[in-house]
Amino acid sequence: MHPTAVVSSTARIGAGTQIWHQAQVRESVVIGQNCIVGKDVYVDFGVVIGNNVKIQNSALLYHGLKVEDGVFIGPQACMTNDPFPRAITPDGRLKTSDDWTIGSTLIRYGASIGAGAIILPNVTIGRFAMVAAGALVTHSVPDHGLVMGIPARLVGYSCRCGRRLLPVENRWRCPKCEWSFRPDGAGP
Ligand SMILES: [Zn+2]
Repeated sequence: MHPTAVVSSTARIGAGTQIWHQAQVRESVVIGQNCIVGKDVYVDFGVVIGNNVKIQNSALLYHGLKVEDGVFIGPQACMTNDPFPRAITPDGRLKTSDDWTIGSTLIRYGASIGAGAIILPNVTIGRFAMVAAGALVTHSVPDHGLVMGIPARLVGYSCRCGRRLLPVENRWRCPKCEWSFRPDGAGP
């Protein structure tokens, strides 16, 4: 843990996890083992992060987020949590934590979030899904789904190794490691 990192005494940090310069880890955060939390990363209170997760510089992980094992979060990616953001109530009072409903977001095993991507609340990013750099994710992404653009659209599927899968007969196959799958889960 770098001496300039600010880590709450109520956060639980697993063995082997590194937390770099000026990162902030808030109250009741749980981070698993062997993770890397990059420079200037913000982890909001109560966020739960699994093992072997890489979080690149300046990523923003807001309350309501759960990250499973093996997830990659690129630099300056932002996981938001307020589906109806307003500073004030309709009668002009400053909103407090009682005036809004927190969204929740789940990033599943092995998924990757590209640099600068923005994830809106109340979505699930599937296992080994790949969110392209700069994408704006407004809907859930299926397992191995490859999404890009603003708003993000499903354009294909990605392998466990990160390569884009190619359609071969009724399956999707990796040109690099030969792994293949069917998105509908049917057949071998
Ligand atoms: Zn592959």
